[in-house]
Amino acid sequence: MSLELAAQAKDLEEALQEPPPEVGKAAPTTVELIRGVVDVDTGEWQTNATVREMTGEDEEELARLSTRENLSYAEYTSVLLSRAVENVGALRVSEDPSVLDNLIVGDRDLLFLGVVKATYGNVRTFVVTCPACEGSSDVLVNLDKDFPVKQPVNDPRKTRPVTLRDGRPIQVRYPTGKDAQAIAASGDTLAAQNTAIIVQCVVWDDDRTDVVKKQWARELSIADRRLIVSAIVENQPGPTLEEVEAPCAHCDETVTMVLDWAYLLFG
Ligand SMILES: [Zn+2]
Repeated sequence: MSLELAAQAKDLEEALQEPPPEVGKAAPTTVELIRGVVDVDTGEWQTNATVREMTGEDEEELARLSTRENLSYAEYTSVLLSRAVENVGALRVSEDPSVLDNLIVGDRDLLFLGVVKATYGNVRTFVVTCPACEGSSDVLVNLDKDFPVKQPVNDPRKTRPVTLRDGRPIQVRYPTGKDAQAIAASGDTLAAQNTAIIVQCVVWDDDRTDVVKKQWARELSIADRRLIVSAIVENQPGPTLEEVEAPCAHCDETVTMVLDWAYLLFG
């Protein structure tokens, strides 16, 4: 037996002794969150999440869900993440799915990206039709590079001050998944959504009810409402979906692909 063959035989022997790899089971992916969520038992912030790949069963369930009318992105994300996120630090999602609702939107988007990575690896290929020559080209989306993560300007675990036009100071925080669902459910008009954003994300040091908060939000001047809403929704930390470009395989044009989250996972 030549040395090479002997080495191959040894490799084979070793391979046979190892347990066979489980078919279709990718390694769980860990995701480091920007803000994380508090473990109420210990008071400590939990930031390291584990996600798993999506299966055919998940795909069917989400496809069924997406046929529902008026389904918001926030609701869709909640269902998806409740299936694919195993834990956030010490908190197990199967024991308490509300963990996911208490994450800020940017952390939920990071988890969404983590699920896409766990399912497909770091690069996804999409076929895009060139607008100039109508030829098909592959566009590679690199999940590590094509989603720049906006870092928080302030500590995302703390509230931020906003000064109203008459000098009154108030405190706001970034929207969570729960807030996003309430905002989406508040109605079709921008005005109703702005009221919901203010109700959900202005932080009070008393335990006033949502009815009182809503009344307060409605009595504000339009200028103050704009001020508060932009302080809450602008510059949210988290991954940003950008356009991905690639040269056309058939002509000199550049093909552009605009991504959305659901397409990234199931497109
Ligand atoms: Zn072309």
